[in-house]
Amino acid sequence: MILLKTKEEVELIRRAALLVGKTLAEVGRYVKPGVPTAFLDKIGEQFIRDNGGIPLCKGFEGFPSALCISVNDVVVHGIPSETLFLNEGDNVSVDCVIELDGYVGDSAYTFAVGEIKPEMQRLLKVTKEALYLGLDRCKAGNRLGDIGHAVQQHCEKNGYSVVRELCGHGVGFKMHEDPNVCNYGVNGTGPLLKEGMVIAVEPMVCMGSKNVKFSKEDGWTCRTKDGKPAAHFEHTVAITAQGPDILSSFEFIENK
Ligand code: MG
Ligand code: MG
Repeated sequence: MILLKTKEEVELIRRAALLVGKTLAEVGRYVKPGVPTAFLDKIGEQFIRDNGGIPLCKGFEGFPSALCISVNDVVVHGIPSETLFLNEGDNVSVDCVIELDGYVGDSAYTFAVGEIKPEMQRLLKVTKEALYLGLDRCKAGNRLGDIGHAVQQHCEKNGYSVVRELCGHGVGFKMHEDPNVCNYGVNGTGPLLKEGMVIAVEPMVCMGSKNVKFSKEDGWTCRTKDGKPAAHFEHTVAITAQGPDILSSFEFIENK
């Protein structure tokens, strides 16, 4: 069931989502060659708790860390590690979900580590563009399939593919609510978008083929099957009659 949020509730979700944006910016300051991903997780968790938030990934179905940190061919759900060091030219996606005063925000950003190759720059650029094209469709009266269609079209037009196994989702009262927000779809299909719906739109985009595999050892790490890089950007958005009200923000990362 899709739960609608009141205007007051949307404002409380915005507070949580903005803390996610600030956390991603704080973590981003430490994205450098030689840094182990577990260090980024430590910085993020401390920042979240110092600001009164709860890192919801930690302990979710046994996930061990506050943040999902996914390098290169890891699409999403990478587990931070003391022995995985960032290298010049990597991309690293940081995904963060925070509960603040009972409301939940979710956002992710893919950072470049040092200088990255033009082909990696293009993957990040197109994935972020796909996110905003999906968000543009988040208007009351549109349909859920319009969002996936916009994301898929843009990625495939640029020679990339979108993951099918994992999707965006409703968010706000809990980390995962109905509906699933797929990164593929057909215009004019799926549930009607209504004012008060709050969803996480999160394109997971592969440079090569769309096929992914999940680690048998940890049960979480999702990698591209062909070993090519992937990128992931995510915002929490409220649907209004006027269009998208993006509740999370990359402003803290990009306008520092
Ligand atoms: Mg997320
Ligand atoms: Mg999400």
